[in-house]
Amino acid sequence: MSVSSGIAHGAAYVLSSVDETLVVRRSVDATEVDAELARFDVALAAAEKELLALGEDVALRIGTSEGDIFAAQALVVRDHSLHRQVVSAVQQNRVNVEAAVADVIEKFVRAFDQVSDPHLRERAADIRDIGRRILAALAKDDESSVLEIPEGSILVADELLPSATARFELSRVHALVTDRGGKFSHTSILARSSRIPAVSGIREAPLKIKTGDHLIVDGVSGVVFVNPDESIRGEYERLEAELSGYRAGLQKGLDLPSVTLDGTAVPLLANASKVSDTEAACLYRADGIGLYRTEFAFSIRGAFPSEDEQYQLLKRAAERIHPRKIVLRLLDVGGDKQLSYFPLPPTRNPSLAQRGIRLLLKHPDVLKGQLRAFLRVSAEHPVSVLLPVVGGIEEVRATRAVLAQAMAELGAEGKAFNPNVPLGAMIEVPSAAVLTAVLAKELDFFSLGTNDLVQYVLAADRENDSVGDYYQPLHPAVLRVIHFVADAARDAGRPLTICGEMAGDPAYTELLLGLGLRQFSVAPGEMLEVKNAIRAATLADAEALATAALAKGSTSEIEELLEQRRLARR
Ligand code: PEP
Ligand code: MG
Repeated sequence: MSVSSGIAHGAAYVLSSVDETLVVRRSVDATEVDAELARFDVALAAAEKELLALGEDVALRIGTSEGDIFAAQALVVRDHSLHRQVVSAVQQNRVNVEAAVADVIEKFVRAFDQVSDPHLRERAADIRDIGRRILAALAKDDESSVLEIPEGSILVADELLPSATARFELSRVHALVTDRGGKFSHTSILARSSRIPAVSGIREAPLKIKTGDHLIVDGVSGVVFVNPDESIRGEYERLEAELSGYRAGLQKGLDLPSVTLDGTAVPLLANASKVSDTEAACLYRADGIGLYRTEFAFSIRGAFPSEDEQYQLLKRAAERIHPRKIVLRLLDVGGDKQLSYFPLPPTRNPSLAQRGIRLLLKHPDVLKGQLRAFLRVSAEHPVSVLLPVVGGIEEVRATRAVLAQAMAELGAEGKAFNPNVPLGAMIEVPSAAVLTAVLAKELDFFSLGTNDLVQYVLAADRENDSVGDYYQPLHPAVLRVIHFVADAARDAGRPLTICGEMAGDPAYTELLLGLGLRQFSVAPGEMLEVKNAIRAATLADAEALATAALAKGSTSEIEELLEQRRLARR
């Protein structure tokens, strides 16, 4: 399945992993075994120490029973059987200690996954966590375990979670090939924003593909060729040349305004999740940062970033995009986005459980710390605050109460902030969409998060390949909800930006304009193509297209309509 468009070729670089922690697998010779085992002992001691400290921190911030989880994990780190099995894997299989840890953890996890007792099954997650922590400790002690990926490689892995991608320079990688990870998973979003072709759903990719194999990754049709013959190579060389010519043509549009053919300005903002994304946003002449996802800074750390760390990072992002605005979204964890140090109650249905603002309101200190960091940045930069996964007005009011406390504290400490910082909500839960007019009375702006909206309107998990066919952004129900929200926001005089992945697909731009959207926030790498589509549209035609689409009763009819429109324009 294609998760990020584009074509690339190059040598495969295969990684093993314990969840998001990727390790290079290499053979060691007899003389290296002792040194590897010594590194293992140092890492175990460091992991144990870290877990005990984390247990104390979490007990303070979240609760004693949550803190105990880490104390229990510290005991497992000292477990003899884990130690014995890793030692024997290094000695007998002659692999580096990272690969041995990954193998042993995988074996433990499989054993736990198979038991029928649900409580024991949940231990599998703990074991993974422990594995990640030991690997992180090994990474710290050994410079060589930082992933030195050769320039131009094609990364092959089971799954690449966002925090894993922080361990190497994504810009050195020419494409990604994974076994797991849906089109709307966060790594796919990252790949698209970095313009890296990516294909997922290649079963057992790390076992079937070897480091050094020549790969062609066709991120347009979702196919990967392993050591292809000359005729396939020739075909793709031609296509790559055509695509780069097209992109060079688009670059010429860099300084052209984002305005429809009939003269309506359509601000084009960028989505970002790390400071360097603001650099790309500037390069592509973004009108601001329409969505800054703060999860990334949390996910690459082993413990809560302090208020000051958050402030420093966000200040750098805001400075880079200044004087344009930056919309900072409060932490959206829960659902598909987990943090190892923020234990959530076990649930069968994470997307329908505690996540986003619901979770933050359960942990007001975490919420207040983040709001304080945002407010401090607002002293010097045009910051707006965005609430994730809002379901109704109560969550808005409860957040405002914490915001007021944060302001009072900062005031008392003599720290500057903008007392009128705009507050907005993601419209991504159907109840919030229905209540747009009600929410508008107490909020300053909205952001339409179609990634979640589609999953909740259609009851189709965005991360689950097996219901991928039901996840249909062009479903008639989705289009009606978008149209409804756009009308309601306009009637209430509240700006609405669309920031879900639909916004970044130029095939949808005209339709979205017709449905009433007038501001888009997309990955920097998608800006030029979307701008091109905006500049080729007139509102009259867009509205006629949207009216025709809204009259259709099925996704396939709407797809057919868009296809006819595309052919007619050509
Ligand atoms: C969305 O849901 O559309 C969105 C932009 O948020 P995220 O993808 O981070 O959940
Ligand atoms: Mg969302």
